This record gives sequence, structure tokens and C-alpha cells, in this order.
Amino acid sequence: MELSFCPVCAAGLIERQDEQDGARIRLACPEGHWTHWDNPLPVLAALVEVEGRILLARNAAWPEKMFALITGFMERGETPEQGIARELKEETNLDAGQISLIGVYEFIKKNEVIIAYHVKAGGEIRLSEELLEFRLIEPEKLRPWSAGTGYAMADWMRSRGLEPVFTDWSSS
Ligand SMILES: [Zn+2]
Repeated sequence: MELSFCPVCAAGLIERQDEQDGARIRLACPEGHWTHWDNPLPVLAALVEVEGRILLARNAAWPEKMFALITGFMERGETPEQGIARELKEETNLDAGQISLIGVYEFIKKNEVIIAYHVKAGGEIRLSEELLEFRLIEPEKLRPWSAGTGYAMADWMRSRGLEPVFTDWSSS
């Protein structure tokens, strides 16, 4: 998040050394009202299984060949499991059944932390406007990517005895 002004007094933020870790520079109000900690934001991700196949969807804002997991942010007052079930319903109309944690993954590039779940789901797929199209892929045909949610996909494959073969979107 890019911020330039103090949300309390609207003064321009200045760069200030962190008191504990001098190597870290924080944006802060010169009057001391506020510090922009810039902590990573949690992102929920779902590897969605529908009748034995894995659902991947393409976001309207993405290049043509890029299919990915269902992701979203948490709302205040919900657990991560409730959050991923809600996102799944909003984005695909599917109903979440069994939800199990795959793992937690860094996504330092976007200042996010990914909490990835395997979600068994059922119902009729109807995509939200954010998503253009989906594919249902046999687990052994998944090709994870070398970043963020791709590592969650790879770990889930290994848990099923499948050796992941990574893909490179830039060259595919
Ligand atoms: Zn201020």
C-alpha cells in the first residue's frame, strides 16, 4: 500500500529509522501520530477439488494462458476457513465441503502471506465477473508455477504421491 500522508493530521510522511532495527526505514508522521508498518497481508487460496479434478480459473485481468487457484482476502470477523468458503461461493458458486490446510507460503514480492487450503467442493459452477473461464484438471496433469500459490499446489501434489513438474508462464 502506498501512503503519503498521516491519516490523523494529513502531514506528509517522513522516512524514519525503526527503533529496534535501524536497517529498516518506516514511513511515519513527523508529529508521531502514526507509523506505516507495511506488514504483509494474509491472502487465502483454495486448491478446489470437484469430483476428483482440480478447478483452475482465469482472471479477466490476466494473460490468456494463466489459470490459477481461487484466492481472496479475509473479512473482519471470519475465520480463514469461513473466508475461503465465502470466496469460493462468490467466485464460482461452489459449496465448500471438507477444508484442509495445505500450508502457509511467502509472497514477499507482493508483501503478502498465502494461507492455502485444499477444498473439496460441490455444486454447479457459475463464475463471477472477475473470472473469465475455468478448467477442471486431473491432479496428475497439474503444472504448478514457481511462486506463491504454485508451491501450495506442488506440496499438495506431493502429498498425493505425485511429483510436480513446474511450468514457466513466461515461456509457455
Ligand atoms: Zn500526524
